[in-house]
Amino acid sequence: MTISQPTQAQVLHNYIGGKWVSSEASETQQIHNPATDEVLALVPLGNRHDIDKAVEAASAAFPAWRATPPQERARYFFKLRQLLDEHREELARLITTEMGKTLDDARGEVQRGIENVETACGIPSLMMGYSLEDGAARGIDEEVIYQPLGVFAGITPFNFPFMIAFWFWPYAVACGNTFILKPSEQDPIVQKRVFELIEQVGFPAGVINMVNGGKEAVNALLEHPRIKGISFVGSTRTAQYVYAQAAAHGKRAQASGGAKNAIVVMPDADLDMYLGTIMNSCFGAAGQRCLANSLILTVGSAHEAVRSRIVEAASRLRIGNGLDKGIDMGPVVSAAARDRIASAITRGIEEGAEAVLDGRQVHIPDHPQGYFLGPTVLDNVKPEMSVYQEEIFGPVIGLVPVASLAEAIELINAKEYGNAASIFTQSGFAAREFRYRVETGNIGINVGVAAPVSYFPFSGAKSSFFGNLHPQGRDAVRFFTESKVVITRWTPGDGQQSITGIGR
Ligand code: NAD
Repeated sequence: MTISQPTQAQVLHNYIGGKWVSSEASETQQIHNPATDEVLALVPLGNRHDIDKAVEAASAAFPAWRATPPQERARYFFKLRQLLDEHREELARLITTEMGKTLDDARGEVQRGIENVETACGIPSLMMGYSLEDGAARGIDEEVIYQPLGVFAGITPFNFPFMIAFWFWPYAVACGNTFILKPSEQDPIVQKRVFELIEQVGFPAGVINMVNGGKEAVNALLEHPRIKGISFVGSTRTAQYVYAQAAAHGKRAQASGGAKNAIVVMPDADLDMYLGTIMNSCFGAAGQRCLANSLILTVGSAHEAVRSRIVEAASRLRIGNGLDKGIDMGPVVSAAARDRIASAITRGIEEGAEAVLDGRQVHIPDHPQGYFLGPTVLDNVKPEMSVYQEEIFGPVIGLVPVASLAEAIELINAKEYGNAASIFTQSGFAAREFRYRVETGNIGINVGVAAPVSYFPFSGAKSSFFGNLHPQGRDAVRFFTESKVVITRWTPGDGQQSITGIGR
């Protein structure tokens, strides 16, 4: 972490109660452009006082917002959708500038975020309960209604600085709750722009708030007695901590963690057709996606073809500033991340993996200060190696030769993580076995990045997800509401008669 020196860089503000306010933080952290090392802004590392103010504003806004009919609440999201759509290119450029992924990739991220806003526009249907006439007994009806709970908070990671916030708050707010977002302190600038657009929409003050910060702000959110629930995405260690702390403080929680996703390539896979999607799933966003594939389990004779074709395609990737045309892979998010990834590669080689392609020494003449790594392909990776076990979160893949589909599935299921797994095959039977037996939350069949769209849950299992209701879609609506059961009996009044003869 860099604690800032006095500088001209802009200090970001919090958005609380419909106003931009200075943080109470005593420390700030620099936000760098990872392609150039330029300081873009300073983020305040917010504290308990900032969180208290935001909770106060969100609590005060809750009763009136809850009383606003769902269809009226939805109209704010129609407006927001329109504004985000009009600014999609600007938002994508902000993502690339502070996070490093290529502009095309950032455009995809913006699209996926907007889709969640579109889904939240359907809240009147999504939030409907259900009822059963005579459900409890003769003449006694029973129904479930979904009600908002109050103030929720969301904590997001650096790798999708725009999209992941939209996995949560549009659903929470459309359901009638109020919300506090704490974006990643590594790249919070795009959320500043999003909140300027939120301000233009005109949500009532306090309905949606943002506090900048890191660990201290997270702890204040976890401990605050008036926050009802926490949505989190980040590394497994933090996810586990957030889930446990939220429970200890009486909150509901959904916490998505890290990953080590594998692709299985069967000997009958159509590599001509699918090499591009495999490559994108490994090296897109320089491997910094929770759905990035970092292990390729090659079954039998698939190994040689996969090795030669992946190495050939990876050697051709153009590395550089993600804002430039024709770039396939940008830098990683920080100098610290670059050094950590390089050390993980070194450790893998020391443990016996063969570096068929080694990206540790890449040099980009136009951007000598950037945090670049080239694509790395390690062969003969074994389950006992650290490069097999640990999430590297960089442009590094391990090739793991296996004898059969059964062995591949066994290896995947033995892993600590359970975010995603993909199979490439022309066999429906192999694909069905895979889908039935593999213990990950998201499965791809001839699909490299098995990323659920907004009206499906963004799943995850084992150490990749703590909780039961996932982000996005109907799961999110359930997470952000309480099921209330109403059991009703009416008896005939004076002069009324029961047609069914019941009710007394
Ligand atoms: P991170 O865990 O370092 O940070 C995530 C958030 O937690 C940030 O807002 C940060 O301020 C906060 N935080 C960090 N350390 C904390 C601590 N000790 N106490 C309290 N709060 C803390 O994660 P990251 O590096 O920003 O993101 C990358 C990770 O996120 C990877 O592991 C990736 O797999 C994972 N991820 C998972 C998914 C998914 O859907 N499962 C999606 C995206 C990213």
